[in-house]
Order: sequence, then structure tokens, then C-alpha cells
Amino acid sequence: MPARADDPRTPLAKVIPSASEIVAGLTLEERASLGSGESFWRTKSVQGLPVAVLEDGPHGVRHQSGAEDHLGISPSDPATCFPPATALAQTWDPELIERVGVALGVEARAFGVDVLLGPGVNIKRDPRCGRNFEYFSEDPLLSGSIGAAWVRGLQSRGVGASLKHFAANNQEFERMRVSADIDERPLREIYLRSFERVVRASAPWTVMASYNRVNGIASTENSWLLTEVLRDDWGFDGVVVSDWGAVSDRVAAVAAGMDLQMPGGDRESDREVVDAVSDGSLPERHVTESARRVIELAERAAAGRAKFGGGAFDTQSHHQLAREVASRAIVLLKNDGGTLPLPRTGRIAVVGPFAVEPRIQGGGSSRVVPTQVDIVIDELRTSAPQSTIDYAEGYLHDGSRSEERIDQAASLAAASDVAVVFLGLTAAEEAEGTDRPDIEIPAHQMAVLRAVVAAQPRTVAVLVHGGVLRLNEVAALAPAILDTTILGQAGGGAIADVLFGDVNPSGRLGETAPLQLRDAPSFLNYPGDGLHVRYGEGIFVGYRGYDQLGKAVAYPFGHGLSYSTFEYGALQLVATESGVSAAIDVVNTSSIDGREVVQFYVGGSTGVTRPVRELRAFRSVAIPAGATTRVEVEIPRGEFAYWDIREHGWRVEAGQYVIEAGASSRDLRASAQIELDGDPRLAPFTGISTIGELMEHPVAADRIKAVLVASGAGQTSVASKELGIDAHKSTLRIPLNRVRGLSAGRVLGREQLGELLAAVNEES
Ligand code: BGC
Repeated sequence: MPARADDPRTPLAKVIPSASEIVAGLTLEERASLGSGESFWRTKSVQGLPVAVLEDGPHGVRHQSGAEDHLGISPSDPATCFPPATALAQTWDPELIERVGVALGVEARAFGVDVLLGPGVNIKRDPRCGRNFEYFSEDPLLSGSIGAAWVRGLQSRGVGASLKHFAANNQEFERMRVSADIDERPLREIYLRSFERVVRASAPWTVMASYNRVNGIASTENSWLLTEVLRDDWGFDGVVVSDWGAVSDRVAAVAAGMDLQMPGGDRESDREVVDAVSDGSLPERHVTESARRVIELAERAAAGRAKFGGGAFDTQSHHQLAREVASRAIVLLKNDGGTLPLPRTGRIAVVGPFAVEPRIQGGGSSRVVPTQVDIVIDELRTSAPQSTIDYAEGYLHDGSRSEERIDQAASLAAASDVAVVFLGLTAAEEAEGTDRPDIEIPAHQMAVLRAVVAAQPRTVAVLVHGGVLRLNEVAALAPAILDTTILGQAGGGAIADVLFGDVNPSGRLGETAPLQLRDAPSFLNYPGDGLHVRYGEGIFVGYRGYDQLGKAVAYPFGHGLSYSTFEYGALQLVATESGVSAAIDVVNTSSIDGREVVQFYVGGSTGVTRPVRELRAFRSVAIPAGATTRVEVEIPRGEFAYWDIREHGWRVEAGQYVIEAGASSRDLRASAQIELDGDPRLAPFTGISTIGELMEHPVAADRIKAVLVASGAGQTSVASKELGIDAHKSTLRIPLNRVRGLSAGRVLGREQLGELLAAVNEES
């Protein structure tokens, strides 16, 4: 198939001269200087070469014409504030999110921005991380798929992405110093996996090295991370940029593969790089390579500018897109007795300041100045002109409890046909740089909910928040709960769309809502001792952990209701060359059109510890009323693999796998099993390789069989059967270097073992 011009992997139109040719004509000083920025957001120009402009991101462009900062303090020019990452992920719809990426690309071009600093694909490890609103999910497949779509869309408009924060920046507490201490398997299977998916699928122009350390080494100085994994293993060919202020030792960073120190202005570090080359402590090729990559980035940026131009963007169509995505992100957590959608008649009591002063995003470097903001109560009134919609504050954001306000809200609710109570957290409570102490809804807000529900049992709770909340009491009180998270500037309209049923909800949680904070798998290992945080829960992050321990949760990963009802048929599996094809019929058994997010989880197989189930494919499908849709997915063989710490690679175990399809990680409607062949153990074999591992190997098998036959192992096998021991299985698990001892010196003595290993390693 010919490469599409907008495919991010399509090589750049060759600009003459090439970056390599240009770099060859630069002095060492010039090359070193390209490795740090000119100013807060720009790279340097040497010899009249173009520069690249890198700005935040991710859910809108934060273009500062005046004072510049990396914490969202000084104002920026108005740009569309799309729903933040947490909401984008709740759509479970990569195609929709690709459209957001395109719109962001158009706006970035309009502001002259070449690289938009996002997306953030860090895993939501602990519910308290203050930046969880900027991240997609607790699951690497969902994070990686949504992130890859975002990058694809953005880069199709000639604007680069900056995949951040690489890596393991999963808490804000001590983010500049803490070392995320993670075993190899969780690092690969969970924390690096979302990055890997985006790098492989969408080739972001840049990757941002994080503030923290990973297993003791600063991300910016971590050559294993930046060179071995990112470039050599995943094939990343873009620029590694530091997070703003993440470099403390530029020479070590350059040696590790970090190309561009930001923000700019640190001329001393340029000099240190030159000195290190001069005294031989830094090989010059690192400086040359990084300079070449920075030039290539600037050339890409110039090509993007030339192709897509700048100019204005259509604020209205982008606002509409923001509304569409926001409405698709809302999760209907609970809807007893068909409380929702609301009829457009009668009297509606609206309670809580979020209804009149919407919270659209979180605090910090991602904070966008919106082009407009939909006020929820105005949108409700516009949507339902026949209804009487009245408002009571109920509470203020200062945390104070006022009996008078509570009474007013309760009286209004009592006099109405239904009450809609907004609850949640302010942007100040969820911001970059700090973590939350807990996951509680403020007590003074809960007092209002209790009073309103007592006065009006038909009450809808509408949740506004970036990170997960403890919802038990809300769930016990309110017959209906709409989880909006934070929805960007058009969230007000989106909430009206879902409340009145113009949009049939189809959002699904990207993060488990636990019954209590201390159930979280990370609870015992957060936030560490200041300088180290041990990821002791290993691969059991989010639902992987709750499921493994059989813990009840408030709302599971993947949960979300609809105004429609869906039924699932039988799950059909077919093993293919490249993995497994799964297909299932889903019927919309209701009388309204709806959308279902069909989730496919894989579990099973036994040789190593594995989660009960892991999300391995998903599809969001619109299903008309009464219709049946066949949902088909391919689950690539690689999705059955775990990270093998002996081979330091992915490995599929032979065995029986269970595939479950359903509407959430705990609402599984169909399952089927499939047998897969395993990946043979790779040479080199050593003394701790087992007999079984050699037996699985196409070449080594004959050799080890010959040894066993000669040893008379078959007789033991017959004898042991009478004792009820499966000698065959036990034999397979014996390491080669134990055979001599077990056979009282008869088999695989030192010399014979040496010969066997030499032979099998040579042949395989
Ligand atoms: C944040 C990044 C951001 C950068 C530039 C840092 O504080 O961690 O996400 O892109 O600032 O504003």
C-alpha cells in the first residue's frame, strides 16, 4: 500500500541539504548550542537555520504572547479548551480522539506552534496523583491507543507531538527527585507499554524525558531508557526533549541520548558539553547526533508550516467538536428507575456552584485560556425551554458549611420534580505539582447532597473532578450519577445533552473507582520515602490488582451505562497466523439508538504470575435501536505475551487462554478459550535451562531426548505413575545443572553437560 502523505511515518520530503549535511558544516560550539533552547519555548538557530517552537499542551494550545512560564500562571491567548486526557480516554474511541488531534494541530499551526507538548501517557498508578486528570488511564492499552490516535491526528497537520512524561512519572510528590523503583516486568508491561504503543504506532516527533528518576537514574540521564529502550528497541527516531527544568547534568544527559534541554537560556551547559568533548569525557558523536536531530525537527517544523500555513482557526466548529467529545466522555455510573434522561417539562432544581462557574480543566502547565465557556445552567435552560430551572448554591468552594444554604437547596429540591446536584473538586485541588491527600468529596458538599436527597428522592448527582473520588455514599444516596470528570470549555452543553437524552451516554471509566482509598493496589507503596518510591504492587496496577485480590469496588474499570440496553451473543474465536480473531454479536434491545463499548479481556495460562484478566482489545460501536452489530477485533499474538525477565523480551507461553467479552472489566457477558503454542526458549541455553525448555526447542529437543533415553528415564516414569506422580512433568522442570546430582552422578556430568550446551547453542 503506498504511504499516505499524512502518515506520520512517511519520511520528510527531502529538504536539501539534509540535516546530516548541515550538521557536518557546524562547529562543535554550534552543535552543542543546538542542544539547549534559545528561550522558554524556542530552539536556537545557528547559521540561519530554522527554529522550532514547542508549547503546552495537551488539551489546548497555551500560547503565551507575554510572560512565559511552565505552570500556567501567566495568561495565554484564547484557544479551544478540549476535554483533558482523563475525559478523552473515557470515550474509548480512538477515531474520535484523532479528530481532536487534528483540531489541536490546526490551532497549533494558527499560533505558530510546531510541537504541542503532549500527550501524557503515564499510567494512573495511584488515585492521589495530582496530575491524573492529564493522563488517560490505569491501563496501558487504553492509554496507548488513545494517545496514538491523538498523535496521529496532530501530526497529520504538520505539528509534532511530545510524548510525556517519559517515564514512570506517576506522582507529583517529590517529582523532581523521587526514584520510581520498578521491577523489569511491570516497567515493561505497564509503565513503558503505553509509551511503546504510541512510539511504534504513531512515531511522535519528540519524547519528553521526565523530572523523576527511574530505578535510581534521572530520566534525562538514563541511557537505558532513552537509547536502549526508546531508540534501539522501539525505533524512535525523533528528538528527546527534557521536561522544563529536568536537566541537572547536561553532559550526562547528552551521553544518555537526551537531545534538547528546555527551557532555553542555560548557556553554561552548552559550554560544559564543549568542554567535555574537548577533555575526552564525552564522545563527540553524541553531540553531533543530537544536533542533527534538532535540525531535523526544525526542518520538519518548517515543512509543516509551509504545507499547512497558519492563519485563524474556526472557533465555532472546534467548540462543537469539544462538545461532541465531552458528551461522549460522560459516564453514566448509575441510573435506577430510569431517573435519566430528564423530561423537558416540569421543575428542575439545580444545586452547586459548578453549575454556574464550570470547572473545565485542571491546574498547571496544561491550563488553557478558553475561547468561550458553556455555563451548565444556561445550557440546561436552552435545552429545555419548557422546564422551570432554578438554582441554589447549596455550598461554596471555600469549604464552609452553611445551614442556610443547605436549607435553601433542600427547599428548592422539595418544590421541584427533580434535583440535579453538582459535586466535586476545584482546579486548585487537582493541579500539577501536588498530589491529593485523599479521594474524598468535600464534607460540606456531601451534607448538601444528603439534605437534597432527603427532600427530593429523584436526585441526580453530577460529578466534577479530575482524579477518582470515593463514591460509596453518593451511590447509596442518589438514584442516578453522571460522572463528567472535567470536560473542557463545552462541557456545559455536553452535560445538558446527556441529561436530556440528546446524547445517549457511552463513556466508560478509564480508572477503577475503589470503595476506599486503602483498597488501591499502590496504597502501601505510595508516596515512598521522599527519594524512592517502590512500585511494590508490580504488574497489579488498577483493575489488575483489584481483580487479583477479589476486592469489591464502587465502579469497575470500563464501567458505564447507557439509556439503551445491550445483549451479547456467543464469543467466537479463531486462531490466525498473527493472533486471534474474536467476534461477537451485540444487540441493542432498546427502542433508542445507542453506543456500546465492547471490551475484550485475556486471562489464563500459568507458568508465571499473571493478572486474572487484561484488556487486550476494545471497540466503540453505534448500534441503532433493535439492531444487531457484529463486533470483530484482532488480538495480535503479542497481546498474549508477558515480559520474560530471563530473556529480557516478550514471550508467549504455551497454553489455554480465556478471552472474555463484556461491557466492563466486571460485567463480562461471554467467554471462550483458545489454545496457543508457546514461543520456544531462545538460546543461549545455560545450566539453569530446564529439560522442558530444551524439549520445546526445535533443534535442542532431539539432543536432550537422546540424553534422557540413554539415562533410562523412561523406566522411572512408568514406576512413578503407580505412585501417582507425573514423572514426565516433574522431569521437564529439572534444570540441566541438577541432573547430575539427581541421577547420582550417572547423567550430565560436567563434561557431558558442557558438550550438550555447546552443541545446542551452536545448532540453535
Ligand atoms: C510539565 C510539562 C510541561 C512543561 C512546560 C512542566 O512543568 O511537567 O508537562 O509540558 O512544564 O510547560
